[in-house]
Amino acid sequence: MRILDGRIVSKERRAKILARATEFRSRFGRSPKLAVVIVGDHLASQVYVRNKIKACQEVGLTSQKVAIPSTVGLSQFKDLMSGLEADEETDGILVQLPLPSHLRELDLGEFLSAAKDADGFTYATLGKVGAGRSRIAPCTPQGIMSILAHYQIAVAGLHCVVVGRSLIVGKPMSWLLTDASATVTLCHSRTKDLRSFTRQADLVVVAAGQQGFLGREDFRQGSVVIDVGMHGSGEGKGVCGDVRFAELAGWVEAATPVPGGVGPMTITTLLENTLLLAEARQAISSTAEVPKEPR
Ligand code: NDP
Repeated sequence: MRILDGRIVSKERRAKILARATEFRSRFGRSPKLAVVIVGDHLASQVYVRNKIKACQEVGLTSQKVAIPSTVGLSQFKDLMSGLEADEETDGILVQLPLPSHLRELDLGEFLSAAKDADGFTYATLGKVGAGRSRIAPCTPQGIMSILAHYQIAVAGLHCVVVGRSLIVGKPMSWLLTDASATVTLCHSRTKDLRSFTRQADLVVVAAGQQGFLGREDFRQGSVVIDVGMHGSGEGKGVCGDVRFAELAGWVEAATPVPGGVGPMTITTLLENTLLLAEARQAISSTAEVPKEPR
């Protein structure tokens, strides 16, 4: 079984980001900048934000942590976001989720334009991704596409099954695979006889948030398995995925481990998105929202 190692892909792509960020700095006298907004003191969010800031430093991006108390009112939050939107030097903004309950129902797109949406979570960006007209996409599914490209797994014509239909992983994953000419089946908690779908698939992306719920018997021999699940704290020891990875050896053709598979590519794609948005704002690449090659 081939191990699809997200750390290797990540290292290679981060070297390219560093080179492009350096070139950007020499042309425009500043580095691409990501503002990371964190509301409250959610423990896991603190770790994620720290990792994102550190990753920015490593690839020559400027970052700004904007920490706001969980008691922030709606109008204050709006003012703060408008300030970042108006700031000429801020290219990308991400709002670390989850937000405190009184802000949770907010439509982020009310405060965040697609032009600065580094995570790709606003409906405006998602709509463009769905329409096949965005260069950036939510980080996890886009990162998976990068892993597949690195390992030369061409999905055109394959039957891909995506398990999970969230707006940040499952749905955009199904759109990106569809755009890459895969035949896609999107499964979720109401799917009857999930195994009958996953066992037919050439490639399965599992993003159900259910620890270890799929194993060898759920996959076709020779298929490719991408495990998005992340259970435990962060990317370190004791972390595991939705798939019982140890059962896959000698059965599937290739699979991503947890940790060290999809996780590292999620942050790397955030860095790539920030760079793309910065380049678009400086009109290096025409815009982050131009149509892709017509299908
Ligand atoms: P959500 O909880 O938002 O969505 C989970 C999806 O899985 C839902 O669509 C749900 O169906 C479906 N589902 C749940 N149980 C089953 C089941 N038994 N059979 C089939 N489908 C099921 O999760 P996310 O999409 O945000 O994340 C999924 C997982 O990926 C989590 O473990 C999360 O921690 C991880 N993750 C990892 C990242 C990384 O960088 N590695 C990044 C983002 C997420 P329904 O819609 O019907 O409820």
